[in-house]
Amino acid sequence: MTRPYNFGAGPAVLPEELLTQACEEMFNWRESGMSVVEISNRSKLFGDLMDEAEADLRDLLKIPSNYRVLFLPGPARAHFSMVPLNFLGGKNTADYLDTGIWSAMAAEEAKRYGNVNIVASGKNSEYTDVPSPETWQLSDDAAYFYLCSNETINGVEITQLPDVINAPVVSDMTSCLLSRPIDVSQYGCIFAGAQKNIAPAGLSIAIVDEALLGNALPITPSVFDYQLQADKKSLFNTNASFSIYMAAMMFKWVKKQGGIEGLFTINQRKAEKLYDAIDSSDFYYNTVAKAHRSMMNVPFLIRNEDLVETFVREADAAGLKALKGHRYVGGLRASIYNAMPEAGVDALLSFMQDFAQRHG
Ligand SMILES: *Cc1c(COP(=O)(O)O)cnc(C)c1O
Repeated sequence: MTRPYNFGAGPAVLPEELLTQACEEMFNWRESGMSVVEISNRSKLFGDLMDEAEADLRDLLKIPSNYRVLFLPGPARAHFSMVPLNFLGGKNTADYLDTGIWSAMAAEEAKRYGNVNIVASGKNSEYTDVPSPETWQLSDDAAYFYLCSNETINGVEITQLPDVINAPVVSDMTSCLLSRPIDVSQYGCIFAGAQKNIAPAGLSIAIVDEALLGNALPITPSVFDYQLQADKKSLFNTNASFSIYMAAMMFKWVKKQGGIEGLFTINQRKAEKLYDAIDSSDFYYNTVAKAHRSMMNVPFLIRNEDLVETFVREADAAGLKALKGHRYVGGLRASIYNAMPEAGVDALLSFMQDFAQRHG
């Protein structure tokens, strides 16, 4: 059987060899006679797996030793609450940069716990650009500065942190962690839901500067307390064992691809091909400012909007799955995470060309 190419934003494509390995190990994981999803996550075997996963992730991202790595259950959106609960501390105000639907939702959620100052919003430009840092209205004494490094729905990415930021940076990297090199020390906290670029749903990862811990609001639910989870080595509650197992495999896979630097080169090439084809066509277009186009999620439109449904249907029949844009924005979107082979992008490109010829 040949697998179709899955361009879905999440749950998203995983490398085929990981799926094969998971199948092979399902009845007898590491000679335990059990599957990884049946074994106690307080067992030595599972503890070793978590240690391996953490060590590999630290290695890949060069995470400094004063950062804690947490493997938490639940969605990325749980962190929309965890971030204010853990970091607002005595300050009560946080700065948010609104660059798309995910950062806007995070800001909305944070308002339940304190004052949210929107430093700037891309909403007026329909989230096609990041407002220039000179226009940001920063607070003098914000507890933290929040941004979403890659807006998965709008296809807007921020890769450089401007110097004007005057508070610890918290970033939602759900759809871009492991896609390009980052300097973890520039951030106070990075979090990511696993189901985009890392593993199956059910797991989220947080990388937190120790200096920011220990200051959670008293109303913080224990499972949402980063400090407590760090103290308990992410085992306060039963954790998402299958997703952690797959994430551990993914980290080894990333290493085999030449690490994040190796994948970055391929990711850049995949994205460039796609944007070039869109820009050079008079059939398709993309409205995001070039400096902030996402490398992982490429939204695009067809000038004749009526053709979008047909495109999605015909692409699906041709084995190119889940190209429909998010319901909030419409159009089309190709998510091209680490696990999307370059051949998948090439197949999409020839389909797009053929479709434009037939319908143009
Ligand atoms: C998908 C996504 C989310 C939401 O993820 P859940 O796990 O469903 O909460 C949040 N932020 C970004 C950037 C995303 O891509």
